Amino acid sequence: MKETQPVMVEDDVIVTLSYTVTVDGETVDSSDEGEPIEFIQGKGMVIRGLESALYGLGAGERRKFTVSPAEGYGEQDPDAIAEVPRSEFPDEIPLEPGVELLLKDEDGDEIEAHIIAVSEDSVTLDFNHPMAGIDLDFNVEVIALRRATPEELDHGHVH
Ligand code: ZN
Repeated sequence: MKETQPVMVEDDVIVTLSYTVTVDGETVDSSDEGEPIEFIQGKGMVIRGLESALYGLGAGERRKFTVSPAEGYGEQDPDAIAEVPRSEFPDEIPLEPGVELLLKDEDGDEIEAHIIAVSEDSVTLDFNHPMAGIDLDFNVEVIALRRATPEELDHGHVH
């Protein structure tokens, strides 16, 4: 049997994609110039709203669509905000709103947070994903498609 390459995005196809994400017209994320991303479709390697908008697109096709928080990075969780004493931060960390931090939890796993407020003796941290609760406007172009190899499907990543 002859191997045929996919003509459109479907499950288990490796998608090469260039993309730009804008929020209120401002670019918040994009693939690097000339360096599209690659992922296996249908494996949840990218957010659900992006994956579901790509089904059926062929190589060279472009599409614009909006991904809601439910299909993106989730809603803002008001419980994911914590006040921490200023004294718990090393001196070299700039304590200003907007600063992104990489912290370690009790198990030593890395967790991301950003500072939303600073007072004389405490720092307010937001552990929500920076893009939670936001409608994301995508502008994508499918650069190439190919069938994932059995090994790639087994490993769950692109070789
Ligand atoms: Zn591998």
